[in-house]
Amino acid sequence: MTKYIYEFGPKKTDGDAGQKNRLGGKGANLAEMAKLGLPVPPGFTISTDCCNHYFDLNGQFPDSLEAQVSAAMANIEAQMGMGFGDPDNPLLVSCRSGARSSMPGMMETILNVGLCSATIPGLIKKTGNEWFVYDAYRRLIMMYSDVVMEKAEQVVPKDGMGIRLNLEMMMSNLKNDKGYDNDTDISTKDMKALCDRFKKKIQEDLDEAFPDDPKGQLMGAIGAVFKSWNGKRAVSYRRIEHIPDAWGTAVNVQAMVFGNMGDTSATGVAFTRDPATGDNKFYGEWLINAQGEDVVAGIRTPNPLNTDTKNTQNHHLASLEEAMPELYGQLADIRSLLENHYKDMQDIEFTIQEGRLYMLQCRVGKRTATAALNMAMDMLEQKMIDEKTMVCRMDPKVLDDLLHPVVDPAEEKTAVQVAEGLPAGPGGAWGQIVFTAEEAVKWAKADKKVILVREETNPEDIEGMRAAAAILTARGGMTSHAALVARGWGKCCIVGAGALKINLADKELRVGTRLFKEGDIFTLNGTKGVVYDRRLKMKDASENPRFQKFMAIADTYRTMKVRTNADTPEDARTALDFGAQGIGLFRTEHMFYGTDSDRPLFLLRKMILSKTKTERENALSELFPFVKEEIGKTLAVMDKLPVTMRLLDPPLHEFIPQGRKSQQEIADALMIDIEEVEKRSDLLKESNPMIGHRGVRLGITYPEITKMQVTAVFEACAELILDGKDPRPEIMVPVTCNEKELAFIRDIVLDCYEGALEKYGLEAIAYMYGTMIEIPRVALIADKMADYAQFFSFGTNDLTQMTFGFSRDDIGSFMNDYIDNAILNFDPFETLDQEAVGSLITTAVDRGRQTRPDIKLGICGEHGGDPASVVFCHKAGLSYVSCSPYRVPIARLAAAQAAIEDA
Ligand code: ADP
Ligand code: MG
Ligand code: MG
Repeated sequence: MTKYIYEFGPKKTDGDAGQKNRLGGKGANLAEMAKLGLPVPPGFTISTDCCNHYFDLNGQFPDSLEAQVSAAMANIEAQMGMGFGDPDNPLLVSCRSGARSSMPGMMETILNVGLCSATIPGLIKKTGNEWFVYDAYRRLIMMYSDVVMEKAEQVVPKDGMGIRLNLEMMMSNLKNDKGYDNDTDISTKDMKALCDRFKKKIQEDLDEAFPDDPKGQLMGAIGAVFKSWNGKRAVSYRRIEHIPDAWGTAVNVQAMVFGNMGDTSATGVAFTRDPATGDNKFYGEWLINAQGEDVVAGIRTPNPLNTDTKNTQNHHLASLEEAMPELYGQLADIRSLLENHYKDMQDIEFTIQEGRLYMLQCRVGKRTATAALNMAMDMLEQKMIDEKTMVCRMDPKVLDDLLHPVVDPAEEKTAVQVAEGLPAGPGGAWGQIVFTAEEAVKWAKADKKVILVREETNPEDIEGMRAAAAILTARGGMTSHAALVARGWGKCCIVGAGALKINLADKELRVGTRLFKEGDIFTLNGTKGVVYDRRLKMKDASENPRFQKFMAIADTYRTMKVRTNADTPEDARTALDFGAQGIGLFRTEHMFYGTDSDRPLFLLRKMILSKTKTERENALSELFPFVKEEIGKTLAVMDKLPVTMRLLDPPLHEFIPQGRKSQQEIADALMIDIEEVEKRSDLLKESNPMIGHRGVRLGITYPEITKMQVTAVFEACAELILDGKDPRPEIMVPVTCNEKELAFIRDIVLDCYEGALEKYGLEAIAYMYGTMIEIPRVALIADKMADYAQFFSFGTNDLTQMTFGFSRDDIGSFMNDYIDNAILNFDPFETLDQEAVGSLITTAVDRGRQTRPDIKLGICGEHGGDPASVVFCHKAGLSYVSCSPYRVPIARLAAAQAAIEDA
């Protein structure tokens, strides 16, 4: 018989924190806490294997499961001294989802399973608290009907609202009619009547009675939790986070403890350190007389855990430290114990039932990038962790947030603030406000920057939250859904900005007397929690000395070099500040785009529309000084460091003059008429420019172009050398498909080299000659290429394009369908496809080294800044990766972590 069930609790615990794959994160950590002797209500975990078997069996439980569940339930009953379904002393349980990696709020949990007409009277008698029992019952009805009867059965709500919203509306109408402010104000009689009306509504809407037997409830709940793995929200979250579908979720069945039994009961959520700043302060929120999800749901403003947690929204509310000092003390001890044990910041859930504390969850807490940095450095200084652990504590992807803009403090001083809330996600952002997730997605697709403004967010908003530049909510605390998700993504977010009055129907927002409409621009300072009513300037946050120190430590473990892709002296300087050790890709064509490009672009056009060699050489010699100057400026900034200069790469097609005016200019310059310009342009037009007349092919048909560029490189170098500098150019030939191309271009290079030495009276210029590897064919004949090439640089954008046969510029039209249908798990232009593109790279590495053992190897595609791809490059034995300036620190850290893991 397959073992599906693993028990945990004070008496017996099967699992531990090491078994996340089988038990899910929640189950594994419940087991670990029980082993540490913490007060965990007893329960058991049904394994993720069981979930997968359940799907294999098309939604049937494996045969032995029911018997295993009964046996495990009997153990809980024995430990609690209660019976599941026992009319006198009924045990209630929760049924909780829990995947390998946390998917906050994406799957389902059902509380109070086991309440029914047979057990209600007994529980009332036992607790003497009728209100509590009906409060628990109405929660069970709400969760169960939503999760088990509607979502799991894939019922499409007729009214478009769904049963949960309907029931919530009934409850809020009752509160309005009777003038109750809070759920806790509802009278027992009204609560009881509400439960009856709930059940009637369920029968009407779902055509099925609310189940009244505990066993049926339990098995229904277990199946529904499994099914929630394939719920819409969970699936879209997995796509975003690249979580495999095959993991499945575990189910945790656990004896209920009650935070809603009156004023000596409570529930709360806490972080062992401040998740926003990383400060070594116990940080949390709690609610008296409430059940689990109330804190996170943002139903009431939660109370602060302690003085450290007080802020402008909650300072008037009693802290746990003040209200229940002894229990707070016990919780503070658990905080230290857990931190010492896990050596990392934990996110915990607890419940107090009539003065007794219970632990319900712990996991490594999500944190902002700033907090991650501060915690890692603090823990190193406290000697809790060593350097290697510290370096691995920081997810390279979130470095982006540390480097990312914050609101310019100078401009912020003069700005008028619209509202204030809690600083839930870091940094600053501006955008146009929209009020629904759907709008956010739509506007973002149209390349607009949006701020998603919601009353509070729920898991259904996930895609809109992703699409938005920032998130702003009117309700909720630091542990609300919006805050958790934003923090996980490092997205700018403000929650609980209570002054916002959102009118969804009219797509407008009132703050006091001010009215804002959809599309108005806001700026958020997510680090302070302040909202402004116009676009403010943003500023870089990378000069933090702690960050510098962290990176310096990481660098000591790194073996692979990190270069940058830069085409201007400004970019080169930025990249040097970020720690770049050279340029891996300098695109000569850059000077024909962007600022100050008018004249060079004109000369380039004149050159490509020349008909005779003489015409072309004339145009080239006019262009020459511009190219030489551009190259010289960047080489000067990068003194002593290698700079890979790529010869002209783009298709000529891209430079054809468009529009009458520029055509006329060219006509005048070449002394031909405009019809002739059009005729020559037509000859240059291509139907597949990406695989057309580009790269090395240009140098083969027009050697004089290559000659001009290479001469520019050598002469710029010569002048720098005479100036006392030490330039290190690497001349790189793009889009090659065989070794004869390299031989052909090399002859030109050698000629130009001799010419420059002679002209400047120099002995030598240190340079290298090499090629990009971006056509699968040359990866396979890398041994021949290495006869001529002293280095290879993998151009993984084109290599991916040509390996997949996907046009890089046109993937937008189908990539989402590929991801949605799980045909691809990721966009291969973002993350390197290790299976095929990676295998071409390792093949080229091997074959290149056969010919030239010391061949220099690097990568210069977008992938150079993608952490997973960097790890691959380290394993493949490349000597460097090259990426855009802002990604340099990310690549440095990813490379350091790869080296640490490798050791
Ligand atoms: P999520 O993964 O969405 O946080 P959980 O399974 O942790 O879902 O449960 C939701 C809420 O219910 C949490 O606040 C949790 O503490 C509470 N809860 C779960 N099981 C129990 C239980 N046995 N007794 C009391 N509260 C519980
Ligand atoms: Mg939880
Ligand atoms: Mg290319």
